[in-house]
Amino acid sequence: MAKKKSLKGLGARYGIKLRKQYTKIHLTLKENRTCPECGSKKFSRDAVGIWSCKKCSFKIAGTAYDINL
Ligand SMILES: [Zn+2]
Repeated sequence: MAKKKSLKGLGARYGIKLRKQYTKIHLTLKENRTCPECGSKKFSRDAVGIWSCKKCSFKIAGTAYDINL
């Protein structure tokens, strides 16, 4: 019984951490970005790990949720 309670507590803590992380990632994803090639603000994530500029078609490989320059 005590073991079960302890596991439940750990799960709840982990859930909060994940939720906070998700919120941070979501905000990062929606952030306005500037194209490193032409400076346009039309720079966004094309697919997971691929970021592209809608203006000059510049493509860069980044992480799933952010660019790594
Ligand atoms: Zn560009």
